[in-house]
Amino acid sequence: MKFSTKVIHGGQKPEESTGSVMPPIFQTSTYAQSSPGEHKGYAYSRSANPSRTALEKALAAIENANYGFAFSSGLAAIDCVLRLLKPGDEVIAGDDLYGGTYRMFTRLFEKYGLQFKYVDMDSVSNVSAAISNQTKLVWIETPTNPLMKIADIEEISNAVKSQNKDILIAVDNTFATPYIQQPLDLGVDIVMHSATKYIGGHSDLVMGALMVNTEEIAKELHFIQFAAGAIAGPMDSFLALRGIKTLDVRMQRHCENGIAVANFLKNHPKVGKVYFPGFESHPNYNVAKKQMRDFGGMVSFKLKDERKEATFKFLENIKLFTLAESLGGVESLANHPVTMTHGSIPEEDRLKIGITDSLVRLSVGIENIEDLLQDLDQALKA
Ligand SMILES: *Cc1c(COP(=O)(O)O)cnc(C)c1O
Repeated sequence: MKFSTKVIHGGQKPEESTGSVMPPIFQTSTYAQSSPGEHKGYAYSRSANPSRTALEKALAAIENANYGFAFSSGLAAIDCVLRLLKPGDEVIAGDDLYGGTYRMFTRLFEKYGLQFKYVDMDSVSNVSAAISNQTKLVWIETPTNPLMKIADIEEISNAVKSQNKDILIAVDNTFATPYIQQPLDLGVDIVMHSATKYIGGHSDLVMGALMVNTEEIAKELHFIQFAAGAIAGPMDSFLALRGIKTLDVRMQRHCENGIAVANFLKNHPKVGKVYFPGFESHPNYNVAKKQMRDFGGMVSFKLKDERKEATFKFLENIKLFTLAESLGGVESLANHPVTMTHGSIPEEDRLKIGITDSLVRLSVGIENIEDLLQDLDQALKA
């Protein structure tokens, strides 16, 4: 099946007892047993729920994975991956991570004895050089949030696995979605999503997902999901599955609008630097072109007037774009990373990598592009 068919049919079949084409919302915690321990595959909904199973099959299908797992949030999914490790183990991560991921690494898991090294993943050699005997996991985000840096997934996988094949490699694929890149095909072990974003696609749920190919890792992840309990509920599973069905068509429009907004900003007299992997001037454009089918709907930029007041004025003046956290929904959003999504990153660390007061991150929605550009233009001029 091609991707656009897979999002609709992957892992799906009509519900068995009624033929219902859409899987019903199994709003239940428990299931009748005919004799102790004898049931139809479902005993208690923390372990498995048919609405979640339907979604997990679809999640696996769209990432070309054998197994999918749905969690109560993206961070719960990352938490599950880190629980594969034990005190003393080391994680190598990119230096421009989603703020909540960084907060979890530094303020939760360091406390439990995990060690983290942050490297610029623009270059594979930075990753290779950081590997030690304690390294157990490499955590890649590409494109990064909010600076849109690009890491070469395949090259990093090859380099890491050739040094030590037991080191796990995980990719946070939230920004790209499987429409744009499928990291498992490039050699990584685990794909993670904040399904809150493009997978759900309608800003109506909070959810996380993990996809893997090997049975061994799948068993461990399922055990942690069951034992720690951060599962996705049946209603949210239903919504996310419904979201996946339009992922292909939504992403087409997100990508079309994304590049149009990026080009508009690049040519606008009030705008300074624009961060977008689809520009030839992007430092890793060749990698982006190689591993991404298209460049997505996320665009970050700085105003030429780098004062905080100027940036705030722009963000107060947008009308069609909504000033809000999150991304990946059908509606366009604007975000001020310093005060919103990346507020938990210490000032010194964020300034080092370029997250300044004048940085704005846009999640370009699927509205009419002329209306979107007109809104940006009026807010920039105001
Ligand atoms: C939002 C986000 C997360 C966290 O997911 P939640 O669903 O908010 O818990 C992780 N990574 C990236 C890239 C994100 O954008």
